[in-house]
Amino acid sequence: MEQELKTYFLDLILPIAIPKTMTYRLPRALEGTISVGMRVVVQLGKSKLYTGIVHRVHEEAPSNYSAKYIEGVLDEFPIVTPKLLKFWEWMSAYYACTLGEVMSAGLPSSLKLASETKIVLNDGHEDRLADELSDKEFLIVEALEMHKELDIKDLMDILQQQTVLPYIKSLIEKSWITTREELRQKYKPKTQTMIGLSPEYQNDAQLEMLVNELEKGRGSKQLEAVMGFLREANNELNILIPRKELQDRAGVSSSITKALFEKGVFSMQEVAIDRMKFEESVSEEKALSDFQIRALGEIKTGFEEKGIVLLQGVTGSGKTEVYVHLIREHLDAGEQVLFLIPEIALTTQLIQRLEKYFGEYLLVYHSKFNPQERTEVWQKTLAGGPKLIVGARSSIFLPFDKLGLIIVDEEHESSFKQYDPAPRYQARDAVMVLRSAYNAHVLLGSATPSIESFWNAEQGRYALVVMKERFGGLLLPEIFCADIAKETKRRTMKGHFSFMLRESMEEVLKNGKQIILFQNRRGYAPLWQCSVCGWVPQCTRCDVSLTYHKREHHLNCHYCGHTTHPPTTCTVCGSHSLKNLGFGTEMIEEELKDLFPDAKVARMDLDTTRSKHAYQNILSDFDEGKVDILVGTQMVSKGLDFENVALVGILSADQMLNFPDFRSFERSYQLMTQVSGRSGRKHERGKVIIQTYNPEHWVIRKVIDNDYEALYKQELVERYNYKYPPYYRLIRVTMKHKDEKVVQQAARDFTATLINMFGKERVIGPEAPYISRINNKYIQLMMVKLERKASPAKFKQSTLDTISEFLSIPAYKALRIQLDVDPQ
Ligand code: ADP
Ligand code: ZN
Ligand code: ZN
Repeated sequence: MEQELKTYFLDLILPIAIPKTMTYRLPRALEGTISVGMRVVVQLGKSKLYTGIVHRVHEEAPSNYSAKYIEGVLDEFPIVTPKLLKFWEWMSAYYACTLGEVMSAGLPSSLKLASETKIVLNDGHEDRLADELSDKEFLIVEALEMHKELDIKDLMDILQQQTVLPYIKSLIEKSWITTREELRQKYKPKTQTMIGLSPEYQNDAQLEMLVNELEKGRGSKQLEAVMGFLREANNELNILIPRKELQDRAGVSSSITKALFEKGVFSMQEVAIDRMKFEESVSEEKALSDFQIRALGEIKTGFEEKGIVLLQGVTGSGKTEVYVHLIREHLDAGEQVLFLIPEIALTTQLIQRLEKYFGEYLLVYHSKFNPQERTEVWQKTLAGGPKLIVGARSSIFLPFDKLGLIIVDEEHESSFKQYDPAPRYQARDAVMVLRSAYNAHVLLGSATPSIESFWNAEQGRYALVVMKERFGGLLLPEIFCADIAKETKRRTMKGHFSFMLRESMEEVLKNGKQIILFQNRRGYAPLWQCSVCGWVPQCTRCDVSLTYHKREHHLNCHYCGHTTHPPTTCTVCGSHSLKNLGFGTEMIEEELKDLFPDAKVARMDLDTTRSKHAYQNILSDFDEGKVDILVGTQMVSKGLDFENVALVGILSADQMLNFPDFRSFERSYQLMTQVSGRSGRKHERGKVIIQTYNPEHWVIRKVIDNDYEALYKQELVERYNYKYPPYYRLIRVTMKHKDEKVVQQAARDFTATLINMFGKERVIGPEAPYISRINNKYIQLMMVKLERKASPAKFKQSTLDTISEFLSIPAYKALRIQLDVDPQ
């Protein structure tokens, strides 16, 4: 009997926002090479190439279109594990986005090549041997040497063939090339060329002959290279020396070492240097104090009973040391540990601490790494074995193997939430899904937990473990309020500094101690205003005032990035008197120069920490005592541990408290408490001064009393009354359009539909947000509040259906509609 030939089809996830997977056909030649989670190359549209992830292999031809063949396969093994794929599916369902959007967020860019992907050569390629390249790969490298940067379409033209991705993939793996992204940083190549002596020259007789010959001939530079090698080798003739190093030490160029290689004197080979490798661990864990031992025991019991533990430990209680003990236990059991932290920039100190204990297991993953470094972490995680992965929110997408423990440090931080683009996920919440998939333990840690997590603990879903004491019996800092209103009346304010704060600062500086000043706003004077008529320059593309940055002397829109020169005359009244309103970190820095001319001041905010190492440099200067006063935005509030800080000044509590958001009290409490915690970490009790117009504000009182529970109870009442989380689940609908009338009409219609579906009491809006136009698009917001028990899946489906109905209305074609589940 003749066997029936089967035709296989692949459902593919493509890294674009199409609602469904696409079905392609598998050529017979590739049968048996494919499994779910591998990457394949496909064409979409006329000539666009994409990397797709195989989501399903089946034999059902699509009914409404004829499936194209895939162009090729990129992997021999799945790079997306079944568990990871499940996680993607959950994320796409919960956060109402497409699988393609999840793939875009989850895969490092060099794993998802597409026609538009920009390819560049890695630094250091000049010193590498082309032997390991195939002809096609060589052509690509050559083309890149000429053009610096090419996209994959260009390379298809150059090679005159469609299937270039496998070559690109191979060159990336050999680390000749990389994909370019905005944040590309300089870094060392992954391999280096090593020089050795060819075996036939590894004896004294041959060497003598060689030296004589070189002395006689014109090869004096070559002689220097050989002598240089012998000096470095110091009698070990079979040693390998990095080519660069040899050239530098012997003072010869690469053409000399190359000539000796061609003569057969030197051998050359590429040796991998492991950039991601940290130093071997050097220390044992610290012995825990009694209360830390008790906490550790409670955490383990909590893991057994509930799987999830919220650790509330005051700043300086030694949460990190407790984590270290737990990490050790899970690594010893052969498991992987994910250590999530809010923003990686803030972790230099943490990484250094962890490296000491777990160097050989440590992997760090974050957005400031280049694509290649991220791909390496991806591959190493996938390879399995015990690993400690420290990363910002996107590290939840790594292909874990035997994930045993997930720690979310500073779990209250809002940077665990991704705002834009979709998926708009909250990493702290998403790890709960990883937990069930891997049967892992979850530890949430914070001195000031989020209301949601504390509530979950109170409801019995999480175990709660509390550490109330600082390590070493140190007292929490003493907190005072400086009344700005009173001091203004008495004329004792100088600039933005109260008499009370100035006096304390003087005292601290006199004693050789350090100060941290917190101002939750960067820039110089946020507003540039006409003092006659009050006119403020606005962004031409957004409905927002421009911020003045003194150092560059320009006005900058913090929403779209637009910059312009500050006007010297008022557009409205023609007056020349333009003055500053409000204040930011840069202005504080400036005022300090007048008030404390002898003090060394450093500033830490987004503007001063853009480059990869800037943050680290500022911190180590401060740590080494080269800086007396550190001024910063909330970057200074987190996780820093300095011994010598005796005073923390919060320049304006009111700006935080008055921010129009239902979380602003919670956030203010957290920020003030966290930044206060930087004061007096060792030896002596620290001091904090909060400047405010409203010293009796109940939130400030709770900060002073260090009474989180009182804050929590009061907040819960408000949240319940106004139908906010944790009692209700929020889903925000954002609409944008360049025509204000259109977006307003659409929002009214959409709101009516929402009310129809969910009832009037569950729908808010539509309304224009505080900033109602960004980048020339007008914005309307609607909010749906659902009871926690209501099924969000049902909501999302009907809302998504409504959205696609809306977008099919001709007038609304250009409308942009976004959903944000659990907005923050
Ligand atoms: P947290 O993360 O709770 O703010 P840390 O873990 O940073 O606290 O600890 C605060 C300080 O106390 C650090 O300098 C840390 O090294 C020290 N410390 C904490 N626990 C111990 C311990 N058991 N032995 C020695 N030093 C400790
Ligand atoms: Zn004016
Ligand atoms: Zn703008």
